[in-house]
Amino acid sequence: MTELPDRRLLLVHAHPDDESINNGATMARYAAEGAYVTLVTCTLGERGEVIPPELRHLTGPALGAHRRGELAAAVGALGVTDARLLGGAGRYGDSGMMGIPDNDDPGCFWQADVDTAAGALAEVILEVRPQVVVTYDDHGGYGHPDHIQAHRVAMRAVDLAAERGHLVAKVYWNRVPRSVAEAAFARLQDELAALPFDKGATVADVPGVVDDERITTTIDGGPGAAAAKAAAMRAHATQIEVAEPYFALSNELAQPLFTTEYYELVRGTGEPGETDLFAGLGTGAAS
Ligand SMILES: [Zn+2]
Repeated sequence: MTELPDRRLLLVHAHPDDESINNGATMARYAAEGAYVTLVTCTLGERGEVIPPELRHLTGPALGAHRRGELAAAVGALGVTDARLLGGAGRYGDSGMMGIPDNDDPGCFWQADVDTAAGALAEVILEVRPQVVVTYDDHGGYGHPDHIQAHRVAMRAVDLAAERGHLVAKVYWNRVPRSVAEAAFARLQDELAALPFDKGATVADVPGVVDDERITTTIDGGPGAAAAKAAAMRAHATQIEVAEPYFALSNELAQPLFTTEYYELVRGTGEPGETDLFAGLGTGAAS
């Protein structure tokens, strides 16, 4: 195997589209800087609601296959070359929203044995040896079972990898500072009439919003990364409708498309006010 770049970042997500919405600018920035970016997606999102009427016939495995194509296009737009599906394609099924009977499907990710799934992810961590891992908080950002499970599996996999010889130096959770979300939604209210969406979402609809004091890290990839993020989100056409600087999911509620992304460092040591996920690691300055 050829030697990987010095700086290596691994992100764990529940469904195709989550990577672009949460971390698109971050992934594009680090890929452009020559860092090695690995995305592990846990399910194919076979139970997602489809926005375009002409694609609504896609359900179950057919939707999963289609979303796999969307994911490939999205990571291509971000410049990321290492995108994997946890345990291989189709290993874990989408669990659907919390509280529906689909949550009990034995093949769904919510029913997966955490240690088994984490073992598969630990294999990837031991292969790539990332210094930085990014995932959701323990509520999965907003309570979706697959997002909660992705959190559990990612945190457990970091522990398993440490036991087997690779210590991930920093673990981050995806966040949005409350002040940023509130300001963006205030702007949205002013601009809503000109948008192709009838209604706006609210701050409560945004995953991972926390008080500003909890934000440790701000990542702004500049215009190139912002454009790549919007392109990646557009690639997930079954799930996302983009009208920059806003977008909507299948609920058709407009929300801000954040091109600056925010994180909370939960393991490891960073630098105060850091603007680089690798800050303090001595892995070479960002170019
Ligand atoms: Zn998701």
